[in-house]
Amino acid sequence: MTEQEADSAPPRVVRRILPCSCGFDLRGRVVGERCPECGWLIDAPGPAWCTAKSLLLLRSKASLARVPCLALLAVPAVLALGLLGREDRAWFVALVLFAVLMPLQLLTQLLAMWSIATVEIGARRARTLRVCAVVRVVAFIVGAIAVVIGLNSEAGPAAATLGAVLYSVIPLVAIASDFMTLRTLGSLHSESRVLLSGSYAVLPPVARWSLIAIYVLLLIPFVGWFFGPILWAVAMSIGFAQVGAVAEEARKTLLE
Ligand SMILES: [Zn+2]
Repeated sequence: MTEQEADSAPPRVVRRILPCSCGFDLRGRVVGERCPECGWLIDAPGPAWCTAKSLLLLRSKASLARVPCLALLAVPAVLALGLLGREDRAWFVALVLFAVLMPLQLLTQLLAMWSIATVEIGARRARTLRVCAVVRVVAFIVGAIAVVIGLNSEAGPAAATLGAVLYSVIPLVAIASDFMTLRTLGSLHSESRVLLSGSYAVLPPVARWSLIAIYVLLLIPFVGWFFGPILWAVAMSIGFAQVGAVAEEARKTLLE
C-alpha cells in the first residue's frame, strides 16, 4: 500500500485482545473506547509482545530462570540437616552443590534474560535486561576471585580494607542489577493489564523491594550470609514466576 492509499483508506479499527485490569472483558472492544466498568481508556490492543510465539518464549524462559533459583535452596537445606547432626559431610556436599548450582543459576538467568530481550518488549527494557544480566555475572565472578585471593593471601591491613570494600560493593552491584531486572519484568505485568491471582500480583513487588533488606542481611556475618542468599533466590524465583503467569494468562486469553 502506498502512502497516499494509506491516507485515503478508512481508519482501521483496532480491537483489544486482552481484558481490563478491573476484570471486565474488553476483548473485541475498539481501541479509543473506555472500559464500561472502570472507565480506563483502551489505548492499545495489547502490548507488542502479546503474540502466541512471544508468550510461549516468555513462559519457557521464566521457568529456565526460576528452576535453578529454587534448586539453590538445596544448599541451605543440606547445611541445615548437617547442623542438626544427621550428616557429617554436610559441609562438603553443600559446597559441591553450591559450586555446581550457583554457576548454573548465573548462566540460566543470563540466557533467559538475553532471550526475553529478543521479544518485542521495547529497546529500553531489552537493554536493561541485557546489561543487568551481564553485570550480575561479572559481579559474581569478581566476588569469587576476591574470595579465592582472600583465602590464599596473608591479610595485611590494606588487603583487609580492600576485602571489606569488595564484600560490600559486589553484593550491592549484584542486588541492584537484580532489582532492575525484577522491575523490568514486573512492568510486563502492568503493561499487559493481564489479570493475575492474588499471590502473582502482590508478591513480586514485595520480593523486589525486599532485595534491599536482603542486601543488608548479606552484610551480617554468618546469620546473614546463610539466610540472605536463601531469601535472594526466593525473591528472584517469585519475580520470574510472575512472568510465567502473565505469559500463561495472556496466552489463554489470546487462544480462547
Ligand atoms: Zn476496566
